Order: sequence, then structure tokens, then C-alpha cells
Amino acid sequence: MQEIIGLSKEELISALCEMGEKSFRAKQIWQWLYVQGVKTFDEMTNLSKDLRAKLSERFILSRPKIVTEQVSSDKTHKWLLEFADGQRIETVFIPEDDRGAVCVSTQVGCAVGCKFCHTGSQKITRNLTAGEIISQFMLVKDVYGEWPSSSQENRQVSNIVVMGMGEPLHNVDNVIKALNIATDQDGLAVSKRRVTLSTSGIVPNIPRIAQETGVKLAISLHAPNNTKRSQIMPINQVHPIEDILQACQEYQKVVTSRYITFEYLMLDGFNDTLQDAQELVALMKKYKIGAKFNLIPFNPWPGCGFKPSSNNHVYAFSRELEKAGFAAPVRTARGQDILAACGQLKSKGSI
Ligand code: SF4
Repeated sequence: MQEIIGLSKEELISALCEMGEKSFRAKQIWQWLYVQGVKTFDEMTNLSKDLRAKLSERFILSRPKIVTEQVSSDKTHKWLLEFADGQRIETVFIPEDDRGAVCVSTQVGCAVGCKFCHTGSQKITRNLTAGEIISQFMLVKDVYGEWPSSSQENRQVSNIVVMGMGEPLHNVDNVIKALNIATDQDGLAVSKRRVTLSTSGIVPNIPRIAQETGVKLAISLHAPNNTKRSQIMPINQVHPIEDILQACQEYQKVVTSRYITFEYLMLDGFNDTLQDAQELVALMKKYKIGAKFNLIPFNPWPGCGFKPSSNNHVYAFSRELEKAGFAAPVRTARGQDILAACGQLKSKGSI
């Protein structure tokens, strides 16, 4: 038995051909899965009973199990989800007035080990499959009743941010497959402009994201030079800032219309001075990257050893970047009361 969610269109067509079916059936099934959001083969009413029976003998059609869910006072919604083998991850939905982003996980745990990250303190267990990645988005659509077939008017489940547990470029094949399912215009039809992949900078795989998905790229930068970055992100010793910025230059030759977002966690006394901001400006100017910054207030978690920068520091830092022509909004911390904010996710539940 094979999971049907997560097969590419081509894989679905070839599986149906192997079953002796015509390839147009794949299109019908694709629409049931990704437009109607059905959860059983029996709901695929334009297929014969015989075919539905054959499909349920060959494929599994399921969603992850919801173990727990929490809703923050700011309406951020977090689920602890369990897959068939008992492995667990967290998924977060961050609603805004007229849109909302589902923050999906790509691995159980993470091998990168960033010092400021709660997930990074949990060893890697395994990669998620493409189906497990995309089904997190589908589950949120189920919960909010937002399939195109539903009568819901104000649709909020509009964006995907690949920023949950795990380093997506350590699971690049499955991530690319999942994003191509999400952006397929015959199915979920999420605009590429509404999908952002965030990486700690696994340089060799960055070109594949440009060429094979075309989604927006975000880099977890968090420091203006290699000395500081290596202290909080050991991966920097393998992929230093210069290599990452060169990969970003190449990215923008392929995905020409999009800024690259540099995420910058504001850590008190570590990376939050005006001199740090000026170093960042010099870097971006040297590499001529169409960049914007996302300044992230640090969300402390038990035992982390870092403190958030003061508001004064954060806003002065932002002004310094903006003075040099770079957008540098301060991200509003969301879901802090339920440990759903950036870098706080865990597969045992963020308790
Ligand atoms: S910040 Fe991202 S890459 Fe770094 S440890 Fe956490 S999940 Fe892994």
C-alpha cells in the first residue's frame, strides 16, 4: 500500500496506467484530492465503484492524526501531529485579517543544531515524505473548511511558509515535490508568490529551489559576519556567509521578480548593535542582492541561554537598515503563549 497524497501527477498517471486505467482518471483523482479535499475514495463519485475499490486496495488516503491542538490568545493555532509510524511534528497556522500562513515542518527534529532554536535541540529522527509535508497544509484547510468546494467566504489559509521543524534543504527532494503539488494550478493552486522556503543556507541545494519551484527564498542569517554566525549556527563553518550570498545572487538570476528575505533574530548583546546593522548593509551592497530583512524578536524557551533584545535596540537596528534603503520590518511575535513562535517547535509538543 502506498500513500496517494504526495505522489506527483506523473507518478499518479503511471500508477493508474499500471492498474489498466486511462490517464485522464489521474486528473479526476487529483481534483478530488486537491480541489475537493476528500478523505475517502468513496467520495470520488465520478469514478466507478469498481475503480474506487481498486484504489483503496492499492493506496492509503489519510491525514496525520491530531494529537493535541492549542490556540493562542492572538489566534495562532498549533497542532501536534502524528504520522502512521508514530513520529510527531508540529504545524502552526498564523492568521491575519485577509490571509494566513501555514508553517509546515519538513523533518522530525533537525540536524543543523542552531543554538537559539528549540527544534535544533532535538536530534534528527527522519525526513518527512512529500505527502506528510503537503498534508499539513491540507489538514489546516480541513480545520478551517477552506476547500474550494466549501461555502466558506473569507478564505484565510492562503500562504505556506516552510519554516517549521527541520532544515528543508536537508530533505530537498520531498520538499520540492510537496511545493510543486501545492502550487499546481489544477489542484491546491497556491501562488508561488505565497510560498516561502526558509533555509539555514545549505548552499548546494539552493539552485534547485530556484529552478524546480520558483518560490520565495528566505535565509536564516542572524549575524553580520562569520565569526558571530558560526557561534550560533555551526552550519556556517560548512557554508559561510559569502557562499550563501553568492547562491542568493544566482537565485535572483532565475527567480528575478522576488526579493530574498534575510531573517535576523535579535539577540540581546550578541548581534543587535548599530555596528552589526552597518556590517549587514555593507554585505548586501557588496553582493548587490535585492534583499529585505525580517527582524525577529527572540522567543525564549526553557534552557535556551539567550535573551531578547530590547525594543529600543530592535527599532534602532531597523532604522539603520531602512536608512540604507532596505525594508526591515520587525516581525510581530505570534503564538508565544503556546510556544508556536519561530524556533519554538518540538515533536514532543512544545511544553
Ligand atoms: S533554526 Fe531551522 S535549521 Fe536551525 S536548528 Fe532550528 S529548525 Fe534546524
